[in-house]
Amino acid sequence: MTNLQKTFMEMAIGLSREGMNSGKGGPFGCVIVKDGVVIGKGNNQVLSTNDPTAHAEVVAIREACKTLRTFQLDGCEIYTSCEPCPMCLGAIYWARPSKVFFANTRQEAANAGFDDDFIYQELPLSPSDRKISMIHSPDNAALEVFQEWISKEDKKVY
Ligand SMILES: [Zn+2]
Repeated sequence: MTNLQKTFMEMAIGLSREGMNSGKGGPFGCVIVKDGVVIGKGNNQVLSTNDPTAHAEVVAIREACKTLRTFQLDGCEIYTSCEPCPMCLGAIYWARPSKVFFANTRQEAANAGFDDDFIYQELPLSPSDRKISMIHSPDNAALEVFQEWISKEDKKVY
């Protein structure tokens, strides 16, 4: 990591402490950078917004996309105070930044009472074996909408 990159990580860690101390949520912070400029930042706001998806990375991705006016974070670097949970990892893959730096690991998060690792363990299981029941309920009407998407001529592919 360069000194500048270390500075961005320090910002993310600072946000994690700030969010924790102000009661916004857990001790997680995130900064998103493009061409050396911060374009989005966030801390965990699960408690203050009653939003279970308001993780630092998701908050920062939303802000960065708003800044760039796009749904993709091409060429961006994400600095997060902790290894992303599976939800944030998914959000990161959808946003497609080029790199992610993380400080604390998921094991360290688990030690602090944030059991993201448990969700990682659920991922490889077949839907019927997961803790939350996932019932496959095939329906032609649902498939028809996919067919309409496939043949839709004015769609924006993303
Ligand atoms: Zn997360």
